[in-house]
Amino acid sequence: MKVTDHLKNANGKTLFSFEIIPPKKGKNIQELYNNIDPLIEFNPPFIDVTTSREEYIYIDKEGLFDRKITRMRPGTLGICAAIKHKYEVDTIPHVLCGGFTKEETEYLLVDCHYLGIDNVMALRGDAMPHQKYFEPTKGGHPYATDLVKQIHKLNQGQYLHDVIEVDNKSDFCIGVAGYPEKHIESPSLHSDLLRLKEKVDAGADYVVTQMFFDNQRYFEFVKKARGMGITVPIIPGIKPLAIQKHLQLLPQVFKIDLPEALIKEVGKCDSSAQIRQVGVEWAIQQSKELLDFGVPVLHYYSMGKSDNIKAIASQLF
Ligand code: FAD
Repeated sequence: MKVTDHLKNANGKTLFSFEIIPPKKGKNIQELYNNIDPLIEFNPPFIDVTTSREEYIYIDKEGLFDRKITRMRPGTLGICAAIKHKYEVDTIPHVLCGGFTKEETEYLLVDCHYLGIDNVMALRGDAMPHQKYFEPTKGGHPYATDLVKQIHKLNQGQYLHDVIEVDNKSDFCIGVAGYPEKHIESPSLHSDLLRLKEKVDAGADYVVTQMFFDNQRYFEFVKKARGMGITVPIIPGIKPLAIQKHLQLLPQVFKIDLPEALIKEVGKCDSSAQIRQVGVEWAIQQSKELLDFGVPVLHYYSMGKSDNIKAIASQLF
């Protein structure tokens, strides 16, 4: 079922959902199941499955290093199919511009359609680890808006090549990313919101936000988005702070602010378990306020571990 239909059926009740990362190549899917199992009791109507960019790996050949480019966490669509089948929930593959030609994207979307996947999250993707800035793949899309346009066209029965005869159109519900503290590359929040409006005008049906730790940022973002005519649901993405390193890493990588009060609480901790607990408690308070605000979904970034998400969800759902 489409995310938008799940929201309609919820009649204003806030839903619970989360995002998972496919295992690394060579690893077992069981660990993923072990982390999903404890969250199923909270009835997620959908689960997002991320897609990772390709990266360079170095193979030691007696001191000489061969450089190979590979995707360390492939299998997004396979994971989507496996989870959909096992738990009977909708799964949402993240579809990236980076690393894919338009043709490859079309193949992926055709597979999604055959698998009965009703939603896709359309994203540009980040630069590869060795790149400073995102570089579009040859034959691929430079921005998420262009990807949204391709998916939207496919929904109208327009494939890349006119010769295709269509009697079974896809009807994907399209999610896109939004940034309450603006995207790192954007000159201003206003400019970034105008870009978000372009994605919605191109056919996006809902927005999921980047993580934030200060709800005011989300409230202001929603207000500004509404003021600019963005009327689609804006789902808040919540990531519980989990390790000491997040204090440096999150502001640095995502250019998001961490509230002083949160930094202070982490500063009082003597162990990693205490830090994880502070992250859980902060996320519970955030979630409670967002629930009161009437958000359509509370969407959690699980980062492959579910103990903290379970601790949060059990206080709310
Ligand atoms: P876009 O919407 O294309 O925007 C990218 C930047 O370009 C912005 O600064 C925007 O303002 C600007 N821009 C847009 N259009 C134009 C234009 N026409 N001209 C000039 N500037 C323009 N990454 C992954 O690799 N895998 C994932 O699974 C994944 N999942 C994510 C899920 C969520 C909910 C979020 C919030 C992010 C996710 N990301 C993921 C990260 C995302 O790929 C990066 O944040 C990426 O840098 C931007 O993606 P986007 O889709 O927002 O890009």
